[in-house]
Amino acid sequence: MTRSDLPLSLLLAVCLMRQAAGADLAPLVAAGLDRTVVLPGATYLTGVVRADGRPGLTLQWAKLAGPGAVAFSNPAAAATAARFAAVGEYVLQLSAADGKLQAAATVRVTAVAAPPAPHLEPVWSTAYQLSSPFWRKRTKNLIVNWLPHCVGKLCDPATREGSIEDFVLAGRKLAGTPGVVHAGPGFCDWFLYNTAEAMCLALLVDPQGDPEIIAAQNTMRLTLDDWIPKILSAQEPDGYLLTQATLQGRPHWRHVRDHEGYQAGYFIEFAIAHHLLTGGRDRRLLDAAIRLADCWVRNLGPAPKQRWYDGHQGIEFALVRLARHLEGGAGPNNNGAAYLALAKFLLDSRGNGEEYDQTHLPVTRQYAAVGHAVRAVYGYTGMADIAMETGDADYRSAVQSLWSNLVNRQYYVTGGLGSGDTNEGFGQDFSLPNNAYGESCAACGEVFFQHRMQLTWHDAAYADLLEEALYNAVLGSVDLAARNFTYTNPLDSSEPRYPWHQCPCCVGNIPRTLLSLPTWIYTRSSDALYVNLYLGSRVTIDQLGGTPVQVEQSTEYPWCGKVAITLTPAHPATFTLHLRVPKHQSSALYTNHPESSGLSAITINGQPVTPAVARGYALVTREWQAGDIVAFDLPLPVQRVQASENIAATRGRVALRCGPLVYNLESVDQDVEAVLAPNSPLTTEWQSDLLDGVRVIKGRFRDGTPLLAIPNYARLNRGGRSLVWIRDR
Ligand SMILES: [Zn+2]
Repeated sequence: MTRSDLPLSLLLAVCLMRQAAGADLAPLVAAGLDRTVVLPGATYLTGVVRADGRPGLTLQWAKLAGPGAVAFSNPAAAATAARFAAVGEYVLQLSAADGKLQAAATVRVTAVAAPPAPHLEPVWSTAYQLSSPFWRKRTKNLIVNWLPHCVGKLCDPATREGSIEDFVLAGRKLAGTPGVVHAGPGFCDWFLYNTAEAMCLALLVDPQGDPEIIAAQNTMRLTLDDWIPKILSAQEPDGYLLTQATLQGRPHWRHVRDHEGYQAGYFIEFAIAHHLLTGGRDRRLLDAAIRLADCWVRNLGPAPKQRWYDGHQGIEFALVRLARHLEGGAGPNNNGAAYLALAKFLLDSRGNGEEYDQTHLPVTRQYAAVGHAVRAVYGYTGMADIAMETGDADYRSAVQSLWSNLVNRQYYVTGGLGSGDTNEGFGQDFSLPNNAYGESCAACGEVFFQHRMQLTWHDAAYADLLEEALYNAVLGSVDLAARNFTYTNPLDSSEPRYPWHQCPCCVGNIPRTLLSLPTWIYTRSSDALYVNLYLGSRVTIDQLGGTPVQVEQSTEYPWCGKVAITLTPAHPATFTLHLRVPKHQSSALYTNHPESSGLSAITINGQPVTPAVARGYALVTREWQAGDIVAFDLPLPVQRVQASENIAATRGRVALRCGPLVYNLESVDQDVEAVLAPNSPLTTEWQSDLLDGVRVIKGRFRDGTPLLAIPNYARLNRGGRSLVWIRDR
């Protein structure tokens, strides 16, 4: 541990001990957290110096290493700003001297160039078809098993956490019915919105004649028809919407622990999903979302309005999404600029609180992920949206710093987040115990965050991480039949999944994330399509090169590396196809052997091509004709994953992966504490009768007994113990 890593509390404790001992020692110095700065922005240094209270202390910031000049706004102050003349890695030193004794500490700053302009645009899900056998099974079970289970809970007034009945009661109260009494502690409007949004997304999936999917979808339509008027009836005349507040007559925006913004944000996202589902024909929910957002804008903001923030982030990125949705032509009453300004104001209002909800510092001065992991990653997603939409230099630098800290120091190999060292949250850098908390919602948030980063930076590394989190952490949070889920996702566990949790935040979040596939597969500009995931599917992208383009992927990835993409523009159209080159090594914490990168045997209509690669994408620009086919192979070797020696929990252990899938050993197949021989050959084998059909990894332990590893997402479907990190020493 270097001085710059010393926690402030430890520094103070050491200082007090020395004072008590009357020691004549050099000052203690900490230079602050390593971070990233996006040029031409500044980074805000907050050095800490303790000098036993003696007079004559002098401080000095200086550049120790780095490719360009560094200008400090006040090099003699512990807290100062630094600006950098060139991109590259810098080491800055804070030194302190009190007479004859002195001490110094360093901080590393990575200066990067501003992102390319303009940012990319999301592809929000509209009607699509899945051909991937892998994803058809997973989505079918969500549609026919999991969502009906969620709806059943929400239609049962006995569900203590909340049900549609709360909206009915709130509506009656608002209509003036006397004697309406709140049935229970219901606090889960959000769970209903998540589930309803997931139903909207499920209705976009082409059932392809499957009678079970058709029946489930028909029931979902009836449920939405029943629910929507009830939900709308619970909206207060000024646009405010929260059943518990209405039923209890509670004042609005008094406390930061009432989840008012978190719930409002989920309502906005549900409303947009429903508007998209109906092709813009049904505006009831969207108009309600606009009334809600307008209500928030009227009440919250710079003086004379109220300064406030929600202790659980979520409304910030929802407001940005609403602004974008209205900008996309869903007007006519486009108040998008005000929604964007409110989202930024809510984030800017944080800063006088605690690490738990990321209010310990102004968000633009936060450079390391701390506190409750879901709140954190939802907050960072909102910050990434603000950075993207406004180009604010301080937001960009904070977001890049938080991302780097998260991915390079606090990231599980499965894409999970949150060690649980703090309350549902992060611990110290590199503290990644295998009994991880890893809340499923944090994995969903990780997908949202990486998505925004890819939109901003056009870089495949973010899509790599999104894919990793989606295929392992999010997909593994439900069982194969989609009848049980888990709130936490340890990397070594014997705990079976379960159908319910007293805080049902993940229950609806998991399906809405998993059913948003087109959004995770593609991002775009007016003349470029980014293919971020290889996933057998047919999606129509609007106005690409000036015309709608049907994009059909034929592939059995991740089981098989062959991909063919057929493009069918309505009219011949010129645009650039950006094909992600998967690397699966985008966190500095993990190294894969053998390396695997690159697309091979790339052809267009059968003719070999060698595209240039930029920012992790192979680029193909041409005038595309209906039926043009781009084909290629993705290498899928079995890889051993070595973790950084900084992580205590994985020393002497190795993980296995193949493509995006991380693998587990299960005690039902072998002794999971056996040692894998370093040179044991590892092969894959398709087993159609195991776990809904999986490609297993086979090898031998050092004692000669056979090893069998199954994909992490399919873990704990047969009982026993399941673990990611295998002994290799
Ligand atoms: Zn959750």
